[in-house]
Amino acid sequence: MKPMGPIPPWFGGEEGMLLVGGCGAASLVDEAGDTPLFAYDMGIVDAQVRRFRDAMPDALHLHYAIKANPYAPLLAHMVGQVDGFDIASGGEMDMALAAGMAPDRISFAGPGKRDDELRAAIFAGVTINLESEGEGRRALAAAAQVGKTPRLAVRVNPNFDLKGSGMRMGGGAKPFGVDAERAAMLARAMIDGGADWRGWHIFAGSQNLDPLAIIETQAATIALAARLSDTVGAAPPLVNLGGGFGLAYFPGDERLDIRPIGVALDSALETLPDILQGSAFAIELGRWLVGEAGVYLTRVIDVKVSQGETFVVVDGGLHHQLAASGNFGTVVRRNYPMAVANRFGAAPAGDPVTVVGCLCTPIDRLGEKVALPPVAEGDLIAIFLAGAYGASASPTMFLGHPSPRELLLG
Ligand SMILES: *Cc1c(COP(=O)(O)O)cnc(C)c1O
Repeated sequence: MKPMGPIPPWFGGEEGMLLVGGCGAASLVDEAGDTPLFAYDMGIVDAQVRRFRDAMPDALHLHYAIKANPYAPLLAHMVGQVDGFDIASGGEMDMALAAGMAPDRISFAGPGKRDDELRAAIFAGVTINLESEGEGRRALAAAAQVGKTPRLAVRVNPNFDLKGSGMRMGGGAKPFGVDAERAAMLARAMIDGGADWRGWHIFAGSQNLDPLAIIETQAATIALAARLSDTVGAAPPLVNLGGGFGLAYFPGDERLDIRPIGVALDSALETLPDILQGSAFAIELGRWLVGEAGVYLTRVIDVKVSQGETFVVVDGGLHHQLAASGNFGTVVRRNYPMAVANRFGAAPAGDPVTVVGCLCTPIDRLGEKVALPPVAEGDLIAIFLAGAYGASASPTMFLGHPSPRELLLG
């Protein structure tokens, strides 16, 4: 038997049926028309936003990094919940604007922005987080072409990283941002080039469950922003402190307690270096806001035995939920939390089973040697923590199966 990650504490059942957003899993599938289905409970997202607001300084802005889940109804809901969207492509810009987010609350990061994306963003009044000197040059040229003053920030590749992160995005050689040693020079060139200077974007890591590491990184980030601003000789209207709040996906993971982070930030914002006194501060989060709200529901097609091992074959797979298969940025494959949705709360029985997707490839494993109640054809398997990096971060074209259905609840 291999353990699985913890099921988020707010999920319960009624008469053995998993409830999502107060509805039974089977009725959700009926409502959506079929499996596989992603169901997103906005009540859970809203509670997470409240948890953030309660713990953090009032002045701190909360941004949603929409790549975690860009499902249009979810984005429309998020417009009312957060202070800004962070995007990373022209396509995401279109989605953010269509959802109703104001352009001056959108910031556009990501390496490899094309000239047409720069022009569209500058024309719309979206802030561009510059990833290189070359991009800075192209942004000024694009601005001249569309006849607008560009709103520009500089994304800094910090000389530190967020320790213990699931995905490292700062520290050392990186394709993201401009090395800290050159960031001030780029900012000065943009200001001299006539840009509307927006400030710094400093993102040092993702998927972190250690409050102390996050606190340390935020302190270093504020110090770096102050040092760079002093060198430029210009106060930054906004300092985006990055994010990194992680989720408890795997066995042994504990849910992140954000309260100590809020306490530390409170005192950091009370004792800011002079040049940052008038700056706004933001944290950008993806998975932490929406990940726990999603459940992936997939139906059992077959139960078969090979050399003593039982395989439960479902109609979903890594083409929808790549992360649960262990092929999205993790080094070792571990089990996401899962359950038999129509036998929720029942005790595990019999030998552990391996839950595989319907793709004809050995990497399509959703759960390895997991302890489940008895499973039969037609049962519904629920995979939790499916609200972020699911449908939009999986190779849906692979093997020609249908796209997943999605449903927003609450
Ligand atoms: C991906 C990304 C995020 C969101 O990361 P999560 O781990 O989902 O919170 C935030 N900011 C930037 C710059 C990113 O690339």
